[in-house]
Amino acid sequence: MNTPDQITQCPYCGDETSFELPDNYAPVFVHCTICNKKFIIERLSKGFQTFTVEAAPSSSNPDCIEIDGGASDEQ
Ligand SMILES: [Zn+2]
Repeated sequence: MNTPDQITQCPYCGDETSFELPDNYAPVFVHCTICNKKFIIERLSKGFQTFTVEAAPSSSNPDCIEIDGGASDEQ
C-alpha cells in the first residue's frame, strides 16, 4: 500500500506538520516536526481528526486502548 504523507496543523504550535495516515482506524501518536510534541491522529471515514493528548477522549487515546489484534504472546 502506498500511503502518501498527509499534512495537518499541529494542535500545539499550529504549524503544519506531515504524518502518515494509518491503514486502520486506530488512533496513533504523531510527533510534530516543528515543536516535537506528541499529538493524536484518528482516522475517520473521510479524512482524519487531531487531538492533543490532554484533550483526547480515552477512546481516541492509543495509551488507553488495549491492542486486540489476536497477537500471540509466545514468550
Ligand atoms: Zn507542533
